[in-house]
Amino acid sequence: MSAIRVRFAPSPTGFLHVGGARTALFNWLLARKQGGTFILRIEDTDVERSTKESVDAILQGMEWLGLDWDEGPFFQSDCFELYKEHVQKLVDAGKAYKCYCSAEELEKKREQAMQEGRKPKYDGTCRERRDHPADAPYVIRFRAPQGDEVVFDDLIKGRIAFPAEELDDLIIQRTDGTPTYNFCVVIDDAVMRITTVIRGDDHVNNTPRQIQLYEALGFPVPQFAHVPMILGSDKARLSKRHGATSVIAYRDMGYLPEALLNYLVRLGWSHGDDEIFSLQEMIDKFDIRHVGRSAGVFNTEKLNWLNAHYIKAGDPQRLAGLLQPHLASRGVSTQDGPDLVAVVKTLQERAQTLEEMAERALFYYQPPQGYDEAALAKFAKEHLQAVYAAVAEKLIESPAITAAEFDALFKELCTERGWKMPQVGQPVRIALSGGTQAPGIGEIIVALGKQEAIRRIQKASETVAA
Ligand code: GLU
Repeated sequence: MSAIRVRFAPSPTGFLHVGGARTALFNWLLARKQGGTFILRIEDTDVERSTKESVDAILQGMEWLGLDWDEGPFFQSDCFELYKEHVQKLVDAGKAYKCYCSAEELEKKREQAMQEGRKPKYDGTCRERRDHPADAPYVIRFRAPQGDEVVFDDLIKGRIAFPAEELDDLIIQRTDGTPTYNFCVVIDDAVMRITTVIRGDDHVNNTPRQIQLYEALGFPVPQFAHVPMILGSDKARLSKRHGATSVIAYRDMGYLPEALLNYLVRLGWSHGDDEIFSLQEMIDKFDIRHVGRSAGVFNTEKLNWLNAHYIKAGDPQRLAGLLQPHLASRGVSTQDGPDLVAVVKTLQERAQTLEEMAERALFYYQPPQGYDEAALAKFAKEHLQAVYAAVAEKLIESPAITAAEFDALFKELCTERGWKMPQVGQPVRIALSGGTQAPGIGEIIVALGKQEAIRRIQKASETVAA
């Protein structure tokens, strides 16, 4: 194992968002590429907003994507003592102090600053305070070093500098004794010996404060990589109003995890003109330094294209297993009926999602309740009954078993009777599936079974004639 240690640190206040999943993926890829360690840390210090359901949903999303972690999940809520110890260390060293300013006082000063056109900033009232009023509530503030700029070289965004005077004395412990977010992150990243912090660029403004904290505590400062946001088609931050944003919603819509991973890795990162990356190729080729600086726009069509690719190339056995719940949710039992693996083989060439595949698989398990009469009239006209009778007879007599053999049988019939292929093929497809949007006839007959195919053709013949 190399010394690289990275972490994904979601706050459990909702499901796993696709943006979060991309951040997790980048961390995971770096760890896997360099033989490092990938840690999962749940940032649940905000007790009000953190829920067990969200923790479960995040873990479920990670597991579905196959982003396995080497250490954790660790919960910040288990570490309050550790944070307290470090707060005390800073206080003892004179690097943090008790602040007794009330919320009202601070609000008044804030408003005044705004009115005078100044950026609101804590004015340091309690910085040098010597009297400590007994029983008065206080917060603990970090004594932010004054003077220089805080500078860091972001692996994605390049050099970033913040003037130190913009960084006021951060509250690190609230009146109720609980530590604040930026402080916990620093302690955890330091204690977990994180070498590279890869996170969303909504945290860029936290980084200079965190760097000051690392330095004050005597911890080495990790490298940072701030990943740009994902936007919706209108260039606003991707949110529910653009459609699904939860990883599990993509599973439920019938996307394969490898398609979503491939899509997410390519969003804002490229490697020549390559579009398709197996997991191993991602690991080999991904480089965090080549992630673009601007936000990526989520493009469902491209995701669909990738998903179709992975479905087409997928192992039918595995796809059958993944398809099962999509059929079950439609009330279809595949217990009695054609073998689902055989069914998948007939559909995987053309399906964009498993939902679409499930919809198209229905006819195998539920004989058509109606027929596309317009298509029947178009393709078969006055020959319809003759076509059905001749096809049924051929099938009964024929020893054919493969799709190719069945297809040859239909060709033979056309030659014998002087019919054109669509005049035979389409009515048969309609008899078998109800419509014309179905796989090749030979393939359907193999999956459905010859006897069932004959039954359906006879049924159609009676129904349409009636
Ligand atoms: N918990 C933060 C979030 O969910 C991530 C903080 C970090 O990665 O440093 O946005």
